Amino acid sequence: MGSSHFPISSSLFFIFDIGINDIGVFNMSYKKWTDEEIQFLKDNQYKSIKELSLLLNRSKSAIDLKGRKLGLKFYTESLILNHEELEKFKILYPQLKRKQLKDIFSNLSYNQIQELAFRLNLKKNHKLKYCKCTCCGVEYEYTDQNFLTKLNHKKCRNCRNLEQNITEYYNKYGIILDSKKYFFTYSIIQWYDFLFKTPNGKKIKFIPRELLNNENLAILFKHVLNLNNINTRSQILKLNKKFLYENKICYKINKQEISIYDYINITFPEMNIKLWEMVRTPNNYFDKEDNIIDALKWVVINRNISEDNVLGGALTSTLFRKLGLRMLVEKFNTMDDIIIFYYHKILNKNIKIEDIYKSRKLLSKDGTTICNSTEEVLVFDFIKYTMNLNIKCISTQKTKSFYNEKYNEYYYPDFSLEYLNRIIIIEYFGMYEKNPKTKLYIEYKNKTFRKIEYYKSRKDIYFIDLYPQDIRWDYKGVKNKLASFFMFNFNNNIK
Ligand SMILES: [Zn+2]
Repeated sequence: MGSSHFPISSSLFFIFDIGINDIGVFNMSYKKWTDEEIQFLKDNQYKSIKELSLLLNRSKSAIDLKGRKLGLKFYTESLILNHEELEKFKILYPQLKRKQLKDIFSNLSYNQIQELAFRLNLKKNHKLKYCKCTCCGVEYEYTDQNFLTKLNHKKCRNCRNLEQNITEYYNKYGIILDSKKYFFTYSIIQWYDFLFKTPNGKKIKFIPRELLNNENLAILFKHVLNLNNINTRSQILKLNKKFLYENKICYKINKQEISIYDYINITFPEMNIKLWEMVRTPNNYFDKEDNIIDALKWVVINRNISEDNVLGGALTSTLFRKLGLRMLVEKFNTMDDIIIFYYHKILNKNIKIEDIYKSRKLLSKDGTTICNSTEEVLVFDFIKYTMNLNIKCISTQKTKSFYNEKYNEYYYPDFSLEYLNRIIIIEYFGMYEKNPKTKLYIEYKNKTFRKIEYYKSRKDIYFIDLYPQDIRWDYKGVKNKLASFFMFNFNNNIK
């Protein structure tokens, strides 16, 4: 055997077919088969009998006989694949189509490819990865979702459904669908009308989802509003789910119901309607901080509220309720918490509760005492800083209360002064009017009298009542009342 016949030196990996005469047939035929030889035969079925005969130094008939006994099928054709090519073939064969293999292994015929694969016990990877739909020509992943894979269908499910639908719509309703335009054969309004009547008199149950894009939903919603004579913003804000039901426009997109709010936003984006302006805000809408921020920004812009006014008390619960934000208010303990939240999250400023009172002029000069009204602050600061008395504001702290048994009422007086182990209660009756006209002021006057009667009846305390006129003319009344009180009770002069 001349190695010059082979283009590549490692002849072991060559499948060849050269005219070689039987060598030593007679001698070799009696040689016992070793386990190594048998294994070699099993491992090299892709080689031809001739080659094996050469490699094992046995006759062709001996190889053939042994092979049959072992159930082996040796390769008989002539072909040339070197080791690398062979390994490549093993990898590529399962993945590629016949044509692709032929292109790569151009020196092999189709038959040789098949034969070699058979010899090597290679199997086609039958699981298609992608498949071009024979109908629409679109290539999809070959999954059960896209094709009826169990039945080996090559027509995509979309196309199959389409064909079925076209037949069904015609048989059931007499609706003729163009095979190209399909559902778009008719406008959204025509489909809407089919909900009430079709060519054969039956009603369709719903508009095909393919039609339900935003553009069509807007057309549909406008159409339904027209049918119901709804054309103002306030009318639209009053719409609810029932309206959708009654007008047969309840639909889901991606399992999400299209709400009345969605319809409005799709149809009238320029109206910029906020969810809380609708009849009902969803229960947990304000669980999301972003929604709270969104709403607060909207209130401030909508009502043209300046930063100072936010702090100064422009954000009231009455305002929020009026704007449909009751549920937002309920997320906070107090309106002050909303203001702090607003400053923190929207203006990126940290403020304290004292800042709020200060801005509302409810904070004393001392920086800590909070009063109920601006006038009380004035009274407090005058007594504390001008008259230099150690006055305390006790109403906002609610630390001291008095119980009026006669009327079953609790009182939280505004201020107290301690002097010689006695307590002076000072009340500022800011809403007191001599001749009150409204119910509120009449009741306030009555309560003022009840308080005075009560405090004066207590022998353990002294009582001073102050009124708005007492702070006029540079606190003339306050000065006089306290001065005469001290002169009378303690014979003490105050300048
Ligand atoms: Zn298709």
